Amino acid sequence: MENGLDSFSFSELNSSEASKLKKSFTSFKNGLEAKVFGDYESIAVDYEEVKPSNLSKQNEHSIIANASHEIRTPLNGIVGFIDLLKETKLDSKQQELTNALSAASQSLMDITNELLEFSKLASGREKFVRVPFNLNSLVNEVGFLCRTLITNKDIVLNVALDANVPKNLIGDPSKLSQILLNLLGNAIKFVEKGKIDLKVSFKSIEDHKTYLEFSISDTGIGIANDKLKKIFETYQQAEPETHLKYGGSGLGLSIVKELIEKQGGCIAVSSALGKGTTFKVILPFTQATQDLEQTKTTTLEKVTQNNCLEGTKILVFEDNTLNQKLMENRLKNWGCDTFITDNGIYGLKLLENHHFDLVLMDLKMPNMNGFQITERIRKSTNTKIQNIPIIALSADYSAIDKENCERTGITDFILKPYNAEELHGLISQNLNPIPETQDDSREQAPLATTKLVNLDTILEECLGQTELLDELIRLFKQNIFEFIGKVKMHMQSNNLQGVGFAAHKIKSSLKMLDTTTLSEICEQISDVCKGNNDVKHLNYLYHQFLDEYPKVESQIAIEMKRIKTN
Ligand code: ADP
Repeated sequence: MENGLDSFSFSELNSSEASKLKKSFTSFKNGLEAKVFGDYESIAVDYEEVKPSNLSKQNEHSIIANASHEIRTPLNGIVGFIDLLKETKLDSKQQELTNALSAASQSLMDITNELLEFSKLASGREKFVRVPFNLNSLVNEVGFLCRTLITNKDIVLNVALDANVPKNLIGDPSKLSQILLNLLGNAIKFVEKGKIDLKVSFKSIEDHKTYLEFSISDTGIGIANDKLKKIFETYQQAEPETHLKYGGSGLGLSIVKELIEKQGGCIAVSSALGKGTTFKVILPFTQATQDLEQTKTTTLEKVTQNNCLEGTKILVFEDNTLNQKLMENRLKNWGCDTFITDNGIYGLKLLENHHFDLVLMDLKMPNMNGFQITERIRKSTNTKIQNIPIIALSADYSAIDKENCERTGITDFILKPYNAEELHGLISQNLNPIPETQDDSREQAPLATTKLVNLDTILEECLGQTELLDELIRLFKQNIFEFIGKVKMHMQSNNLQGVGFAAHKIKSSLKMLDTTTLSEICEQISDVCKGNNDVKHLNYLYHQFLDEYPKVESQIAIEMKRIKTN
């Protein structure tokens, strides 16, 4: 398979090679599944042969963590390529096959992510933080997110905190969210119709530590008594047919258990087959002296009374897909016109070409981080862009201190997790007053017509002949696919000169169609290859290109339609 990938090129792939690639992929996937789900017979011998006798358990986990991390990169490529393939013209059989490929590669990605998470934990590489957070907000946030995950099911999800539970705590909020999301995620998976309850209650105070109990109960399929113990073991599912019906790797609960025990807590389960399951988690926290909710509640009282955000245009920089979905849902509910991107360059371009009222900025993003994007915005020569309010979003308490924000020009900040009202309050508080006359024509441009390409120049060169334009566009697409294939191939063999050459060659085609975002990404690819040879950055830019291209292609289709109907 490795040889196949090394010499891989789109233009050369014929149907027998494609079928060979598919077979290699299937056998690779089957091998991994066998390893994960326990068909050890066929692989046990090889494994024992290569396993050095003195390898400690921790080392093994460290190796698995590294391997899973390494697997993720090409796997990302596979997922990206399949997405690209889906954008091309496919007949119904091909569509069915690409959908199956999509599902298989996505589940491989899920398994790899869980494996990485588990191995990081087991090898002691997972870090736990202790930061102040508001439990009320966190639990409501988790509840909100889980409700958005319940699709096509008749499930009621209730969240309740006892009155005597302290709300201002010090602990690791992101690990707590991960634990609750995992347990609630399982509940959602195993309940077809019924109820899920998340209850938080106070347990005790010992050694200055406050012990809280989180109970997650559901009215789902339940677990047989004799299977209860083994569900916390790695790669274990209650029944052999669970994987077939519900998917999953059997790693989730072992990750949850590790996360809890590493923080000095414990987890227990009780269940009745066909009736439902209850997980109880006890975790220690320190009570925070500062009231994290006080100031925010006074803000939100002012804002939730009227729907003052209707029609507000918000640009969101966020790379986490779950957070993207959450944010989109929220802002849409408030009637905001929203655009979400994880691409700094693209976001900055959007700001130049469209009117936005406010920016929500995740600080930790790959490549250009939130501070860097903010600095670019503040340096803009357009005063409207320069003065746009920017609210930073971060889960890291230390990254978000006032001084840092002021230095880079961030207007305000909110700590993740936050609840909807807090966000609503902060947005409306920070909106600039609306000018009396809106003479900027950009303000009228709807987001849907963002100009990613401009075919006017090339149409002129074709002397208005649309058939010729069709042919040039076909060649353009072919060039792009060749470029993608070549860059992939050169990156695999670490041939950065080759990547630079491919980027140089594609530049004129990109310019011809005035594809500003792709041109800029390509320019950066060239710069990296000429300059610091930062392979990680190059890989990031390459994936930006893969993400961006389908948008450009669909815009070309819209433009072509417009030209032909005129
Ligand atoms: P998986 O990825 O398979 O969900 P987990 O480790 O999260 O892995 O769960 C292990 C097994 O425990 C599941 O496959 C399922 O059989 C059982 N299980 C976990 N939570 C529930 C629940 N709420 N209801 C019924 N069965 C559950």
